[in-house]
Amino acid sequence: MTGPVNDQQAKTPLCPRWEARADLVVIGSGVAGLTAALRARELGLHVLVVTKAAVADGNTRWAQGGVAVVLDGERDADDTVEKHTADTLTAGAGLCDEDAVRSILLGGPAAVNALRANGAVFDHESGGLSRTREGGHSAFRVIHAGGDATGAEVERTLVAQAGERRIPVLEHHIAVDALRTPAGEVSGVTVLDRNGVPGVVRASAVVLASGGIGQLYQATSNPEIATGDGLALALRAGATVADIEFLQFHPTVLFTPGARGRCPLVTEAVRGEGGTLVDGAGASVMAGVHPLGDLAPRDVVAAAITRRQALAPGGIDDHVFLDATGIPGFAKRFPTVYAACQALGIDPAVDGIPVTPAAHFSCGGVVTTADGRSTVRGLYAAGEVARTGLHGANRLASNSLLEGLVVGQRAAEAVAADLAAGLLPDPSRGRLPERTSAPAAERDALQRVMSRYAAIGRDADGLAAAGSVLDLSTQDSPLWTHKAVEDAALTLVAQAMLSAAALRTESRGCHVRSDFPERDENRWRRSQVIRLSPSGQPVLAEAASLEGVA
Ligand SMILES: Cc1cc2nc3c(=O)[nH]c(=O)nc-3n(C[C@H](O)[C@H](O)[C@H](O)COP(=O)(O)OP(=O)(O)OC[C@H]3O[C@@H](n4cnc5c(N)ncnc54)[C@H](O)[C@@H]3O)c2cc1C
Repeated sequence: MTGPVNDQQAKTPLCPRWEARADLVVIGSGVAGLTAALRARELGLHVLVVTKAAVADGNTRWAQGGVAVVLDGERDADDTVEKHTADTLTAGAGLCDEDAVRSILLGGPAAVNALRANGAVFDHESGGLSRTREGGHSAFRVIHAGGDATGAEVERTLVAQAGERRIPVLEHHIAVDALRTPAGEVSGVTVLDRNGVPGVVRASAVVLASGGIGQLYQATSNPEIATGDGLALALRAGATVADIEFLQFHPTVLFTPGARGRCPLVTEAVRGEGGTLVDGAGASVMAGVHPLGDLAPRDVVAAAITRRQALAPGGIDDHVFLDATGIPGFAKRFPTVYAACQALGIDPAVDGIPVTPAAHFSCGGVVTTADGRSTVRGLYAAGEVARTGLHGANRLASNSLLEGLVVGQRAAEAVAADLAAGLLPDPSRGRLPERTSAPAAERDALQRVMSRYAAIGRDADGLAAAGSVLDLSTQDSPLWTHKAVEDAALTLVAQAMLSAAALRTESRGCHVRSDFPERDENRWRRSQVIRLSPSGQPVLAEAASLEGVA
């Protein structure tokens, strides 16, 4: 059954037909999830990974540009973690948590070295690791693998390690809701197996590593799994989320007429190595826009492209061009981008690459400390689903794989420490959720209104219109299928984003309001924190909740 339900049906109790137990259940098998699971195993915890697709399916394996890290002996002579911190704070447009930024970036070199020790191979050139520079970075500190296939190498390494260490992974199992003790602590999750058969995993702790939310939009660089399930689960479990209005649009995905779903990315490193953005008439898009020109932070570049597209003679143009004709050996340096171009009959050596901005990275998420503790005891989060304070209003390019490696590991360590200190609940006390349904909108309608009204260049009328359309196309649906769980998650996350975006009457980082184009330092140099009201609506919570992390 997938249609609407009446109140009686909504309260139909879940009848789990299978049960598993672990010290720790990790939701997701991308960089953050597998890193957490591997560290948990090292610490002697009984860990189980639940993932709704195949083990390697996630944003991680699509990452192209690389990992931003300042490694000893593999850096520009004057580069330091402090400089990396400063660049991150600048990109974050006043909303980063400086302590979290410093702490996570300081953890980067050890995390990357551990990954390399476990078999990850990064590209080399004479004298050491090959490093590139991406938008917003003041130094060459982005290491990469396979040219532009860094995420695939990170995922390959972690999957191989998980296999070698026999970490159990339940593939094609989707986590639905948290089990909670009478005191509100999280102590496991309900899960649907690949056939939709319900079960429970009881555990002293849950680490959410469920990735991003790109599927809120019609055009996105994210694969189909990026439906915000972890955010919805966390909200329904009583946790807080923050900075959800800051959804980064990648300035350059390959423009394919009529494309929907995941669009191939054209990595920023192409601009790092000399590519320039031009409009249909061949005029520079970035000239005079920002001192860093084509290497400006991605929010600046994405907004500039959107403005240029809107100015096109004869109405809105759907793309501009990336001129990479001056980059020698393009096919070898950027094999993934080259293959995607070739599939469209484009040769970057002679043709401009048609590009447009697309939904890419969620800067906000479940509020956590820099070691993954959320505001609810027993619930931890790491990777793109988490809001540690590293990204603020705009992520600095290539900081997210690093965050997954560092915080994934720390989240496992936090679980081990909290277990040893007797702080975590007895899993047998976890109760099933009372409601087994949630409001869900029709996915096409949701993606259409979010793309039209809640992308770059939002305004009050459009955000209100999007909210109304969403309300009209939303009905209570039982969470009995994978699709229903995803649709309910997309709906809740869209509602949260629309509320936060409507309230923030300024432009900052990747939140660009056409009716409030300026940054308002007096009023808005702060994060907005959201939780669910008793009736299940996302509402603004006190900003103090940012400090109230368990
Ligand atoms: C095209 C592209 C290029 C990028 N390039 C870079 C780059 O160069 N450098 C960089 O640092 N970052 C880059 N990023 C961002 C980076 O890849 C991601 O932020 C990062 O990989 C997220 O890792 P994660 O472990 O948090 O989530 P993911 O890798 O997305 O994994 C999420 C996991 O959660 C599972 N899951 C989700 N919901 C559920 C559920 N309900 N139940 C069970 N399982 C669930 C999924 O199946 C998946 O296994 C890029 C992203 C994209 C899309």
